Amino acid sequence: METLSKKTAMKRGLKMTCPKCDNAPLFRAYLKPVESCASCETDWAKVRADDGPAWATMLIVLHMLAPLFHYLTFKLDLPSWAPILILGGLGLGLCLLLLPRMKGLFIGLIWATGAPTS
Ligand SMILES: [Zn+2]
Repeated sequence: METLSKKTAMKRGLKMTCPKCDNAPLFRAYLKPVESCASCETDWAKVRADDGPAWATMLIVLHMLAPLFHYLTFKLDLPSWAPILILGGLGLGLCLLLLPRMKGLFIGLIWATGAPTS
């Protein structure tokens, strides 16, 4: 395996492109990585990110929503259903947006570190 910095591999994964060559998409469906890269033929099927992307997504999204929750609940005079609707919709949207990017980031990091794969 050629040497590539972890930072570069993670950035490429975050862009959802091949962490090795940056020339082809990393996913063939929402969270399903391609079997191998269409450009450099790196095998991505055996690099498993497991629960890391979900953990990172929740960590980021919940830290973004916590101050908003406080503001909407205690500073504004909104009906009680409004913060639930706003935070639920925003949280769902942010999770759906971030999850595949976090998976790409983790796949890039796992690949760049040469961690054992299944
Ligand atoms: Zn590639």
